[in-house]
Amino acid sequence: MNPTAQVAASLFSELTGASPDSIWSAPGRANLIGEHTDYNEGFVLPFAIEHRTYAAVGRRDDGIIRVASTFDPNPVEVAIVELSALFGGAAGEAVQAGSVPEWAAYPLGVAWAALARVPNSAVTGVDIAIASDVPIGAGLSSSAAIEGATAAALDELWSLDLSLLDMAKIGRTAENQAVGAPTGIMDQVSSIMGEYDAATFLDCRSYETQPVDLGFAREHLSVLVIDTKVKHSHSTGGYGERRASCELGARTLGVSALRDVTVADLERAKTLLDDVTFRRVAHVVTENQRVLDTVDTLRAEGPRAIGGLLVASHVSMRDDFEISVPELDTAVSAALDAGAVGARMTGGGFGGAAIAVVEVDKLDDTKAAVADAFDRAGFVEPHQFTVTPSHGVLRDA
Ligand code: ADP
Ligand code: MG
Repeated sequence: MNPTAQVAASLFSELTGASPDSIWSAPGRANLIGEHTDYNEGFVLPFAIEHRTYAAVGRRDDGIIRVASTFDPNPVEVAIVELSALFGGAAGEAVQAGSVPEWAAYPLGVAWAALARVPNSAVTGVDIAIASDVPIGAGLSSSAAIEGATAAALDELWSLDLSLLDMAKIGRTAENQAVGAPTGIMDQVSSIMGEYDAATFLDCRSYETQPVDLGFAREHLSVLVIDTKVKHSHSTGGYGERRASCELGARTLGVSALRDVTVADLERAKTLLDDVTFRRVAHVVTENQRVLDTVDTLRAEGPRAIGGLLVASHVSMRDDFEISVPELDTAVSAALDAGAVGARMTGGGFGGAAIAVVEVDKLDDTKAAVADAFDRAGFVEPHQFTVTPSHGVLRDA
C-alpha cells in the first residue's frame, strides 16, 4: 500500500480500534494554463499530480460523523443531523466562528453538501481519517484533494451513486459555503477527473471536459514546481478583490460573465472601463484565448510548442492582473534563463508556486539556477520538486 494510504489506515485504527472499510484518494493539481478564468465561466487546463490525499473511512452504527487528520491531534465529531445547522446558513456566514476547526470544515462540508445533493438518503454514521502528501497552501490544491477523497469515499459508503462531476460540485460547495473560500470548480474537476500524462480541458460554463494528451512523458519533459514558500490566503484580500473587478467589468460591458468578451472586444472595453478594471478584464480575456491556443498547440505540435503561451500567461498575471510577487517573477525568469520550455506562476496568486516545463536532463541545472537566483535576491530558499500528470480519484483499498 502507498505509505500515505498506510498512514491514513493507521490513523483510522487509532481512532476506532478497527480497520477501515475502504480507502479513497484524490490528487492535488497543477494548472498548466488558465488562471482566474474559472469563475469567469472561461477555460482552464489543469492536470492532476501524483501527490494525493487519502481518506480511510468506516461505518458507525450511530448518526455521528467523526473526522481526524494527521494535521490535528483532536478528531472532530458532529451529529449528521447537525450538519445543516452548522453549514446551512447563507453563503459567507457558514461555519459559526470556532464551532469546528477550519480543516474539519472541508470533509464535514463535503458530507453536508453530498447529503444536500442526494436528499432523503438514509445514511449511517462514519469515521474518516485523513492523511496527505499534497503540499498545503502551495497552489497545488490540497483543498480539492481532501474534498475529492472525502466525496468519493462517502459516495461508496453511503451508496450515493454520484458522478465524478457531482463529486466536483460537492467539493466546490463545501469549499465555498462550509469553509467560505470563494473558489471556482477547476480544482475539484482536475483532481477528480485527472488522467495519466493528460490535462483536463474544462469549460467552466458548461462543465464539459476533455482530456488533452500532454505528451510530457513521451517527450522527456518534466514539470518543475517552484514553491516560493510565500503564503497566500484565499479567504482574504486580493483574490476577492480580483473577483469583484471581474464582476464589475462584466456588468459594465453588459455580459453575464467575462467568458463572453473576446480579444477583439478589448479595444471597445478599454473605452468603457477604468484602467485597473480594464487590465483585470484584459487578463481574463486573453488568458481564455491562451487556453484554447494551448489545447490546439498541444494537439497539433506537441508540448515543446506551448512555451510562449505559458510565458505570456505569466506576464499577463504580473502586469495586468497584478497577482504575482517578486519571488514568483524570479522563479519564472531564472527557469527560462536556464532553458525551460516555458514557465509561469500558478494558483490564485500572491505567493504559492510557479511551474516550469523543463527537459528532464536539464532539471538539476534548472533547480540550481533557480536556487541561486533566490539566494542572490535575498529570498528564502524555494522548495523545488517535480510533478507528474497523474490519475484522478481512486479506491486504494
Ligand atoms: P491549497 O488548496 O492551495 O493547498 P487552501 O488554503 O485552499 O490551499 O487549502 C488548504 C487547507 O485545506 C488547509 O489549511 C486545511 O484547512 C485543509 N486541508 C488540506 N489538506 C488537509 C489534510 N490532509 N488534513 C486536514 N486539512 C487539510
Ligand atoms: Mg485550495
